[in-house]
Amino acid sequence: MKDPRFKPTAIRSPRGARTTEIDWADGHKGVYPHAVLRGYCPCAGCQGHSGEIKFVEPTDAQQELEDITTVGGYALALTWFDGHDSGIYSYKYLRSLCRCAECAAAAPGN
Ligand SMILES: [Zn+2]
Ligand SMILES: [Zn+2]
Repeated sequence: MKDPRFKPTAIRSPRGARTTEIDWADGHKGVYPHAVLRGYCPCAGCQGHSGEIKFVEPTDAQQELEDITTVGGYALALTWFDGHDSGIYSYKYLRSLCRCAECAAAAPGN
């Protein structure tokens, strides 16, 4: 069972760019500013164990994306230029981080 909303068909993250674009199988064109991706890094080191996802303001250098790899068909692992690579972003989580015009308009307080 593959929900097309949680299945990327293309990932564009040109070196040096500050935004990664992900096309999803349901036709949604996802837009992911690196400040958002890094700030919402889901790893325990960034989020602690409070259970509540919080935004950690990244520095400039922390917004440089070094590498993207897929994990088990359900997530992306992002490696940042500063060596941070413990964040595993499930496709479901990524959909919630989307900042395209449509999603940004729908997200309250954002
Ligand atoms: Zn992290
Ligand atoms: Zn969106």
